[in-house]
Amino acid sequence: MKTVQIKDKEFRIYLTADQIDVAVGKVAARINADLAGKNPIFVCVLNGAFVYAADLYRKITIPSQITFMRMKSYSGMQSSGTVKTIASLHESMVDRTVVVVEDIVDTGYTMQRMIAQLRDLGAKEVYVTTLLRKPDACKVPDLKIDYAALEIPNDFIVGYGLDYDEEGRNLPDIYVVND
Ligand code: 5GP
Ligand code: MG
Repeated sequence: MKTVQIKDKEFRIYLTADQIDVAVGKVAARINADLAGKNPIFVCVLNGAFVYAADLYRKITIPSQITFMRMKSYSGMQSSGTVKTIASLHESMVDRTVVVVEDIVDTGYTMQRMIAQLRDLGAKEVYVTTLLRKPDACKVPDLKIDYAALEIPNDFIVGYGLDYDEEGRNLPDIYVVND
């Protein structure tokens, strides 16, 4: 079994680049069908979602734009519970159909905060797509995730944009920590 070592932790392969590509393609097809004619603006949540956003957005075929916002809630392998906005948006969200692009929804606090901020900025409707979702870790019961590519158990993962202590984002596959 394929493993990688990052700092003090060993990780084993969990989802291959091909499996991810298929799942991303399905999400893109749904968004292309559902949001045609709405001229949506995609908002990628940095840092983790940059790889997913790049792959997803190249499969989007409807007129749309993309921009970036930076949030931070994790340090090491723990969700800190407090979500900080590090860099905010320059584009107007007023009356826009917005699609938040996230790498992973864990407790859900980051997404809850994002959705609230985008509504405050005047967004007409806010959709959420995430590459990964950990349903067992969710602490926001009524959180609306419109397009989740893959659902995973409550384990710590790296690769495809996701880091362990700022490393491993460049791995093309997704790995789970070996305990
Ligand atoms: P939440 O606010 O939903 O608890 O956490 C969301 C953020 O925590 C994600 O955007 C992601 O950056 C980070 N995160 C959550 N789970 C994991 C994980 O298993 N691995 C990594 N590398 N980051 C995670
Ligand atoms: Mg993230």
